Formats: sequence, structure tokens, C-alpha cells
Amino acid sequence: MLLIDSEYAVVADSLSKSYGRVRALVNVSFKVRKGELYAILGPNGAGKTTTVKSLVGGVRLDGGSLFILGMDALKHPLIVRSLIGVMSELPGLFPELTLEENLRLMGRLYGLGGRELGERVDELIRFMDLSSHAKKKYYSLSKGLKRRADLLAALIHDPAILVLDEPMSGVDIMSRAIIMKKLDELIKEGKTVILTTHNISEAMEIAHRVLILAKGRVVAEGSPAELRSMVSSEQVVEVSLNEVPSGWIESLKRELRLDEVDVRGKVVRFQYEDVMKALEVIIALSSRYSVQIMSVATNPVSWDKVLLKLTSNP
Ligand code: ATP
Repeated sequence: MLLIDSEYAVVADSLSKSYGRVRALVNVSFKVRKGELYAILGPNGAGKTTTVKSLVGGVRLDGGSLFILGMDALKHPLIVRSLIGVMSELPGLFPELTLEENLRLMGRLYGLGGRELGERVDELIRFMDLSSHAKKKYYSLSKGLKRRADLLAALIHDPAILVLDEPMSGVDIMSRAIIMKKLDELIKEGKTVILTTHNISEAMEIAHRVLILAKGRVVAEGSPAELRSMVSSEQVVEVSLNEVPSGWIESLKRELRLDEVDVRGKVVRFQYEDVMKALEVIIALSSRYSVQIMSVATNPVSWDKVLLKLTSNP
């Protein structure tokens, strides 16, 4: 029996791949649970595309093992490939064919035909709200519509796992929102979605768990909350004053032992862990310097800063 019941959609262990002297993947290990939306995140050249290509047999690995739905993907690449729907980084359908013709062609490649294929194509076009574009040639669609069409093509054979390389790159916010909503619906249906992105806010917004790569190596893995706490529990404190005497800033730095304070007009910003202590000092200083506090806000450190910190020393 080839299939082993596994709680994991993907178990990748020590994946390695070099292109000449470039080490695209260095012992990359990760596990994706069934029914999870898993994001692979990292800067340009981090190894995201090489990782997802390796899942679908698009890369000959130098080393490592890979199990998809409990099946050895290196021993049974064709069977494993049929369990996965793939959307590559670049638009992938035939430009001169209509959306409907493209989906029919993709369906035939997966052995579908007759009424079953017709119904599947209609169902998918309705699912992605693309009925008014079904008869349009692929080249004439906007980038956002092309990405939605690419996603449908990946779904034609009803795969258990979707592997999407930069699905939201370059699309407008409307198409992005639609793609995100549809991915959510697919997850609720029980599919597993693995996607790559270099946009950390996007990954943290939609993914259950995130794998962060840099220079071909895993630098962190976890849920958005776990990743944030790995970096810092500091908050960004933003104080708006009616005026900002220089002594106020110097005293703030001294009393909270701050290295950096950002002052823009009458707004003062700094990072600090103990928010209550920061508030006490701000209130005490405002009375000492007779300045009025207009507002105080605290926010978590930005995701971009989290990513920079995690990927700066892979
Ligand atoms: P991007 O965000 O720019 O798409 P990525 O994280 O997807 O980057 P990969 O495309 O996996 O990164 O590339 C990882 C490294 O391997 C890069 O240094 C890249 O130049 C190199 N690389 C990838 N494919 C090839 C190839 N076919 N031949 C030579 N080098 C390659």
C-alpha cells in the first residue's frame, strides 16, 4: 500500500539543492498539517520557488526526503503530482484561448471529459465569480483576473493540496481580496494551501503557520503570534504632545534608557516593553515640563521590522 495515513499534507526533511555554487536550499525541513494555510516567506532569492518546485517534482533535489500525504514523493513523483494543484509565479494559461477553453484543456490533460468536464468548468468559473469573463481570451484579462484564472486551472482536478507561487503578486486590492476569500473557502472545504510570498503582512494576515527562509535556510517557523514573540515583546509607543521641549525628550531617554526616539513634529515614537512604566514616565514628564498630552497609542512592532530582524543573519 502506497498511501500511509498521515496528519501531515507535507513532511519535508533536509531538502538541499545547489545551482552550481549557489546554495538554493540548505537542509530545509518543515511540516504542513492537512487543512492548513501555510505560507513560505522570505526575501528575493531566499529559496521559496525552489521549495515549492521541489514539492511538485519540478526540481531534482541533491538531498533530503519528501512525503506528501504520507507518500514518498521522490519515489512516486507522478502519483504525488496528481494530488497537487499548482499555480506558478508567472501567468500560466494559453493567451489565445478563452478562460473556458483553457480550463477545458487543463481538464482533458488530467483525464476529465464529457459532461463531467463541462460541469466542473462551469462550477469553477462560478466559484471564482468569473462568469462574465469566461468567453474572453486569456491575454485580454487584467493581471488580477489572470491570477484568478490561474487558480482555477490549478483546481481543475480537485486536488487535495494547492501549491501557489506568489499568488497575490502584482494584483490589485480587489482581486487580492477575492483570492484571499476563495483560499479561505478552499481551506474550509478541507484543502491544504501552501503559498509563497515576500510580503510579511500578507503572510501573517492569512496563514495559520509561516516558514521563513533566507539564503536557502530556515530562519524561523511558527504561527504569526509565535513569530512575533520570537523577535520582541516590545510595543511601539506613540505620544502626541502640544509641544515637544528638547529637555522632555532627553529626560524620556534617560528615564526609560532608550537609545532611539523618533520625533516628527509634535509626535514622539519609541519602542518599549513595559507599557505601564512608559505611561507613568510620560505623565510625570508632561507635568514636569508643563506640556499637554494630546494622545497616547501603543501598537505592536511592524511586521516588516520583524522580518528584517529574523532574516538579517540567516
Ligand atoms: P524570488 O522572491 O526572487 O522569486 P525565491 O525566494 O523564490 O526568490 P528561488 O527562485 O528559489 O528564490 O532562488 C533561490 C536561489 O537559487 C537564488 O539565488 C536563485 O538565483 C537561484 N536559482 C534558482 N533557480 C535557478 C536556476 N535554474 N539556475 C541557477 N540558479 C537558480
